[in-house]
Amino acid sequence: MKTTIEPFRIKSVEPIRWTSRAHREALLRAAHYNLFLVSAGDVLIDLLTDSGTGAMSTHQWAAIMEGDESYAGSRSFDRFRASVQEIFGYAHVIPTHQGRAAERILFSVMCKKGDVVPNNTHFDTTRANIEFVGAEAVDLPIAEGQQPARVHPFKGNMDVAALEELIGRVGRERVPLVMLTITNNSGGGQPVSMENARAVRAVCRRHRIPLYFDACRFAENSYFIKLREPGYDSRSPKQIAQEMFALGDGCTMSAKKDGLANIGGFLCTNDDVLAAQETNLLILTEGYPTYGGMAGRDLEAIAVGLQEALDEDYLKYRIASTAYLGNHIAGHGVPIVQPPGGHAIYIDARAFLPHVPPAEFPGVALANELYLEGGIRSVEIGTLMFGAAARMDLIRLAIPRRVYTQSHIDYVIEVILEVWKRRDRIQGLRLTEEAPFLRHFTAQLEPVQPVRAG
Ligand SMILES: *Cc1c(COP(=O)(O)O)cnc(C)c1O
Repeated sequence: MKTTIEPFRIKSVEPIRWTSRAHREALLRAAHYNLFLVSAGDVLIDLLTDSGTGAMSTHQWAAIMEGDESYAGSRSFDRFRASVQEIFGYAHVIPTHQGRAAERILFSVMCKKGDVVPNNTHFDTTRANIEFVGAEAVDLPIAEGQQPARVHPFKGNMDVAALEELIGRVGRERVPLVMLTITNNSGGGQPVSMENARAVRAVCRRHRIPLYFDACRFAENSYFIKLREPGYDSRSPKQIAQEMFALGDGCTMSAKKDGLANIGGFLCTNDDVLAAQETNLLILTEGYPTYGGMAGRDLEAIAVGLQEALDEDYLKYRIASTAYLGNHIAGHGVPIVQPPGGHAIYIDARAFLPHVPPAEFPGVALANELYLEGGIRSVEIGTLMFGAAARMDLIRLAIPRRVYTQSHIDYVIEVILEVWKRRDRIQGLRLTEEAPFLRHFTAQLEPVQPVRAG
């Protein structure tokens, strides 16, 4: 069969609300042209993030009813740990309320001022937690990973020569760990190959530096390896994940991504001494070691979700539906980051709106147009988020897991193509209010030319 269908049927539905174009114009004006300030109820299709926005399965909801809310020694923790260890294989599993809590604990224990942490590309909370302890976060993506239009099967790979050079330059004692983010979220949701992970591990072993994975989208990464890396087509996504994690010494994880849960995360390590220090910090700020920052029912949902995320029918549909969106709009000339990633499609707003200079926020202008045209919410990753340091102005359309069907995606395609047709008439914006840091969340803007009421 040619058609890849959603490998599930829908048992519980959540209505979404239509609004008129005139109503959306008023809502956007009231939100000061910043989609973060629009109420979710006024959004028809919400592609702001794939984090914590997935739909749980009947098995997960059933497991939730089995949640053991005991303070210590909860049965749910045993199930959670068994599920994590089967896939990840690490000796110690430390539950946290989400990924960034695992990061904070890991870097507080492993890093100090003056240290350097290399990564293919740090996610923003990872970078912030490293910088918070006075260490430096260094991104070492391969050259192909920095060119939006360039096609490469493993664009998320780390530049191994650059890693070797960095360690040689700053000295092994200043590099407490190396991280690999799978898939590379900030680099467009692009996968890392097993070959690259092996090469990174070889460098780490030679210098006796631990290797940690930022594992948020490990299942999507495993499926890309199955599809694209020679020798893996007959392996299951779980076997591939197990082989990948065996190359490392630990990981951080946000269960809001490939944990298929709405909240949660964990930290893993094989190091007994570090685990003891990490557990002490966990008790101080997250909770007792058998629940961390979660309820027993959350542990149950994740124990089931991690396994479901590795299901081949699910991954086939997941990767196909993201690619379907990307390939359709690219086929009509819309400039996207190529090839389509696992969890999101990124549109190059500078190429889409060449007449809008970066200082007038082409990403924000385009995201706002998609909302006005069809009630779709996306997010700018560009000049509003990073200031003048932004190398690109992109908008990200992140696809929540198991939430939208193909007809929702067809609708999104139609809206994008309508906006593409009249792109010449889209104007930029200017800031009227901004906060001193993370300004994109609360910034207020206005169109550079006044819009006529109507
Ligand atoms: C989401 C994410 C995190 C942080 O996880 P939270 O659960 O949002 O705290 C870290 N790294 C990557 C790659 C992520 O996508």
